[in-house]
Amino acid sequence: MEHKNVWETYSQKQVKECDSFNKGYIKFISDCKTERECVNEIVNMAEKAGYVELEARVKSGKKLKKGDKIYAVNMNKSIMLFNIGDKPLKDGMNILGAHIDSPRLDIKSNPLYEDTNIAYLDTHYYGGVKKYQWVAIPLALHGVVVLKDGRTIELAVGEDNDDPVFFVSDLLIHLAAEQMEKKAAKVIEGEALDIIVGNKPIVVKAKKGEEEKKEKDPVKALVLQTLKTEYGMEEEDFISAELEVVPAGPAREAGFDRSMVLGYGQDDRVCAYTSLMAMLDVPTVKRTSCCILVDKEEIGSVGATGMSSLYFENVISELVELEGKGSQLDTKRCLANSAMLSSDVNAAFDPSYASCFEKKNAAFMGAGMGFNKFTGSRGKSGSNDANAEFIAYIRKVLDDAKVTYQFAELGKVDIGGGGTIAYIMAKYGMNVIDAGVAVLNMHAPYEATSKADVYETYRGYIAFLNALGM
Ligand code: MN
Ligand code: MN
Repeated sequence: MEHKNVWETYSQKQVKECDSFNKGYIKFISDCKTERECVNEIVNMAEKAGYVELEARVKSGKKLKKGDKIYAVNMNKSIMLFNIGDKPLKDGMNILGAHIDSPRLDIKSNPLYEDTNIAYLDTHYYGGVKKYQWVAIPLALHGVVVLKDGRTIELAVGEDNDDPVFFVSDLLIHLAAEQMEKKAAKVIEGEALDIIVGNKPIVVKAKKGEEEKKEKDPVKALVLQTLKTEYGMEEEDFISAELEVVPAGPAREAGFDRSMVLGYGQDDRVCAYTSLMAMLDVPTVKRTSCCILVDKEEIGSVGATGMSSLYFENVISELVELEGKGSQLDTKRCLANSAMLSSDVNAAFDPSYASCFEKKNAAFMGAGMGFNKFTGSRGKSGSNDANAEFIAYIRKVLDDAKVTYQFAELGKVDIGGGGTIAYIMAKYGMNVIDAGVAVLNMHAPYEATSKADVYETYRGYIAFLNALGM
């Protein structure tokens, strides 16, 4: 089977549409670097498109009807959108599900210390990272600090041109003979990933007649003073904070031909954005459509805001109740009769590391929307293996909409693997397949995608939401 190159299929008009879509995408991933920032922005976009909050709708007591647009936010970290179609919920939905958390360095609960005139924040990395990639690059600090009085301080330091940035130091090459002998996994160890946040001591001038008072950790003291004056927080407030260290600065176009996007967090915000835009751009549907954007995928979909949480099922129960037609058994029927694209990224074939891929079954940059029948590792372990019947249905939907797509596996059989939220949703007995954008240097601080794949994936999601079901 030959791989198509999307660019060769595009008319001038489509190239323009693709470019303009990617402008919006680049802005989104530049502005939204944490799951909370994504949720905030998505709520704004959804409300503009006429979506109303589930809780408010439940309180209003108004029954659910065709054309209603509902969203539900879980703990500010995951969000679900629903566009109600003609048919009852028990007939199932077309679901797009992506994740909005990305690999990063999280600040520990007791992070601030000083060593030899340098102040540090200690971190604990989140998700799968090659630790050596996070040193000697400008980093930004995003997140929230929740005070005991209930106030929330929102931080995003390192993004504006006149903001300071942070960094993790690395050993100069001149002294690195020993370090360079180490295995890549050991070159930079987890506990060495502490970000440098200060180098200037606090100076407290003694009043007349008083003795000069020396701070024990004067650099740390100045950092604390700055945190107090600029953000109103104390050292103890780190305990009730969620602060994430991410690469500083915006995503960019890449290549002389500007054919690619280079930016942080494209796994999986590229599928989150394309899924969301498809959801908002298909305002009327026959079959109810749903877009799920969850947290914690990178650490196993755990926790209240991950896909394994019962939150999604609870929301469906609320909707079934609002619909007021049947019993709560309809929740189960709705889930079992749904079809889902697990919108997640795939590894793009990398010619520099060709030996890790099996070329007939690899995803290529610029070859369109990427599907994985299964993910997993060591013999499909931990995978959702999509059904042939469902794949045939998807092929028809995409071919009818003239979407360019490719089927692939993540690397060679014995070499590694990965997982997504697909297997969790499949537990309801629904048809699920992984579908998204191929990414080069996935999980690196800056990941690359093809603009053409981004746009084709968006078009594919639109075709799927318009489809009538199997
Ligand atoms: Mn992912
Ligand atoms: Mn990932």
